[in-house]
Amino acid sequence: MSLSFCSLASGSSGNCQYVESETTRLLVDAGMSGKYIKNSLETINVKVETINGILLTHEHADHISGLGVLMRKFKLPLYVTEKTWEAVKLKIGEIDETLLNIYDKIDEIVIGDITVRGTRITHDAVDPLCYTFKNNDSKVGIATDLGAISDDVINEFKDCDLLMIESNHDIEMLKIGPYPLYLKRRILSEHGHLSNEDAGYIAKEIIKHGMAKNILLAHLSKENNFPDLAYETVRGILEMDQIIIGKDINLDLTYRDKVGKLYRIVK
Ligand SMILES: [Zn+2]
Ligand SMILES: [Zn+2]
Repeated sequence: MSLSFCSLASGSSGNCQYVESETTRLLVDAGMSGKYIKNSLETINVKVETINGILLTHEHADHISGLGVLMRKFKLPLYVTEKTWEAVKLKIGEIDETLLNIYDKIDEIVIGDITVRGTRITHDAVDPLCYTFKNNDSKVGIATDLGAISDDVINEFKDCDLLMIESNHDIEMLKIGPYPLYLKRRILSEHGHLSNEDAGYIAKEIIKHGMAKNILLAHLSKENNFPDLAYETVRGILEMDQIIIGKDINLDLTYRDKVGKLYRIVK
């Protein structure tokens, strides 16, 4: 029994993640064009028509811009909370309502042989969630657009084998960078995004529990971060705690405009 994970894209220009068990294939967010998502899946030998469901973290454009096309063209089912659906439905065009699975809240739902759990976060959206996916003993977590670090997130994610965690910005780059003041304040607030330091802190807390073998840095800002800077900042924080990259854990990046590595967790 196993889970596989692949980031098809991650960043403020678009987000789409792929999670697979032996019998079930899911997407988290559809924030790239339908064509990009279809082609990206083909690079890992997955046909878009075989996706069993799409989950959404929240309604911002970088998470839903390809959703309408995927639902219309390939008849992909959507699993969504009521509030998020209310915020999404006017933005994606006409869709076949039989594809909708609407929940009051997604505390725990089962899709095929994958158990999905949603955890509430404080990003500035109507009902933002991050997710874990479990198949027998294998567990994958996806936590982006977080705003703030919470005990709920640490508790839910601490036994993940693979964790994709937001490492959006370098705080100094953001402060001296080109963004207007209101946007800088928003990003730095608990309704915005996590910094590289925050990502390092969460990674350290989760690795302490001994399960995580893969930490993937996600949703990197184009303007306020560099991939090497994010990687080295998180590596520095982990190594201060004697966590050795390549030996204790694997630390990797995800990308704004290309498919990342395909990970298989086999237990
Ligand atoms: Zn986002
Ligand atoms: Zn967002």
